[in-house]
Amino acid sequence: MARYESSIQRVPTDEYGNIAAELPCIACGYNLYSLNTETVCPECGMAVGRSVMGDYLKYCNPNWVSKLATGTNLVVLGIVVIFLAAFLGGAMVSASNSRGGAAGAAIIMLIAIIVGRLLLVIGYFILTAREPTKASGDTVARLLARWCLFGSFLVEVFNQVAAMQVTGLSGLRLLGIMAIVGSVLQLVGLFALLVYLRQLARRVPDASLVTNTSIVLWGWVIAIIGMFVVGFAAGASRGSGQDAAAGLACMGLIYILVLMIWSLVLTLWYGRVFTRASKEARSSWARAM
Ligand SMILES: [Zn+2]
Repeated sequence: MARYESSIQRVPTDEYGNIAAELPCIACGYNLYSLNTETVCPECGMAVGRSVMGDYLKYCNPNWVSKLATGTNLVVLGIVVIFLAAFLGGAMVSASNSRGGAAGAAIIMLIAIIVGRLLLVIGYFILTAREPTKASGDTVARLLARWCLFGSFLVEVFNQVAAMQVTGLSGLRLLGIMAIVGSVLQLVGLFALLVYLRQLARRVPDASLVTNTSIVLWGWVIAIIGMFVVGFAAGASRGSGQDAAAGLACMGLIYILVLMIWSLVLTLWYGRVFTRASKEARSSWARAM
């Protein structure tokens, strides 16, 4: 309880209820120092109390909060499109009995995956938009998430285009290095995104959402470490050791499937929470103006 409460902005006030610290108005950025919490901002007329409680999403700029909602919902849509494309597309390719039919299904599947990937990157970009006031400051997690995820997308596009032209060994090596760079960027970006989302969950505030985000975050860290360990063990082992490694890999697969479903549920949860907060923000700003 205390852990997420501590992140909510506490503004020191003197005995008369006047603000005793530098505090920007959440609407216009005007310094509210020495103003009473019961009055309004002299610059824009927004209630000062709202800036004091400004860390809650429902008191923040409604356009920005609705960007959080839109971005998250686009991410969900992107994930669903990619899932459907991979599973239904794969089934269509194997079910079609002519070569032309299979090729057609494969092209539809590819286009659907590209559309899904575009939805994801646009969603990430909108979700990590900068908050338009200085009231809460900016976070490293937001910037890292925004640019690593965008960078990994650019690397992916580069690799897809380059893969059509590259032939020689050095070219293949470059593709391999770029693929690793893209994966690292994506991992760092997703990790940062979860950290950023957890910061936002504390501003809902929703303690259970914070806890679930932490579980998913560390769940993925363990999954990645586990994949390295299993890969290393499989490479090093002989005979019966290989059976054990295969068993471990199978368990790992189930673990990752659970984690993926949990991540999707979490994303849906964020979408719902942000949508509600953006409605509240819109009505609270409408009343203040
Ligand atoms: Zn103001």
